[in-house]
Amino acid sequence: MERIAIVGLGLIGGSLGLDLTRYGHPVVGIARRAETAEEALAMGAVTEAGTELALVTGADVVFICTPIDAVVATAAAIAPYLSTGAVMTDVASVKGELVPSLEALWPGFVGGHPMAGKAEAGLAVAEAGLFQGRPYVLTPTERTVPEALERVRAIAASLGANLCQCHPDQHDRAVAWISHLPVMVSSSLILACQGESDPAILALAQTLASSGFQDTSRVGGGVPELGTLMARHNRTALLDALTQYQHQLEQLKTLIATEDWDAVHTTLTHSQTARSVYLHHRQR
Ligand code: NAP
Repeated sequence: MERIAIVGLGLIGGSLGLDLTRYGHPVVGIARRAETAEEALAMGAVTEAGTELALVTGADVVFICTPIDAVVATAAAIAPYLSTGAVMTDVASVKGELVPSLEALWPGFVGGHPMAGKAEAGLAVAEAGLFQGRPYVLTPTERTVPEALERVRAIAASLGANLCQCHPDQHDRAVAWISHLPVMVSSSLILACQGESDPAILALAQTLASSGFQDTSRVGGGVPELGTLMARHNRTALLDALTQYQHQLEQLKTLIATEDWDAVHTTLTHSQTARSVYLHHRQR
């Protein structure tokens, strides 16, 4: 059993804790607010909790699960309490900007990103089994200690996640396509609908919205903090993806404007075929 510490007990930190305590690991949780620490203990997400960073002392593996913009500062603050040989990992949705700083702070650092989430945030929506069947990306570099990588890999595998490994920059370019671009597209979809100038039509559209709109608007209706942090910390890759998306939309608009229905059909056939390649490994 590894002695685990989780810093930041929200959706991801809390969900990790629920699984890791279930598998018998002693898990100490460190929250910013005392109420969060108490709630985590009460729901069994941790076996010990508090607000003092010194609680990480003695941990074998530390998961930093704070919002993206607090990860490096949190790592710097806990490093003095860690024993030599301790492994540090994070779960942040961007890697290229964070990993070099984190590796400089702690030699036993391994970048990670479990690709599971929800529209809501916070400990209250944490869920056991959240990572089951989902991709869990590890982003080692030439500086990564092989034994540290192996220990994080073993824990991630124990969650039932599908492990994947790539360079931090490759991670950021890939998630720009399948995670960060969809948030911006979905948000724009909702706001474009809201731009309908006839209040009666707008009200009717809101009444008629059903499963299609529910699917396509889900990530645009998520917590704004996470989307803003994605854009801020993965700006270049997201801008590239948005440019390509705009180009694609313009092409489709031209085909519809010129009534080129064969080309519209061909475009939609290509997207229908391509979609399955992205979702073939999904179990739920
Ligand atoms: P969350 O539910 O908002 O939880 C973040 C927790 O961090 C909060 O409970 C808060 O604790 C604590 N916190 C906030 N600011 C802090 C600070 N400055 N210093 C220390 N602790 C702080 O967020 P989340 O969705 O779990 O995201 C956490 C990390 O997971 C992020 O790095 C994100 O990129 C990554 N991630 C998110 C998703 C997703 O879809 N949500 C998916 C994969 C990875 P208190 O309650 O005590 O204030």
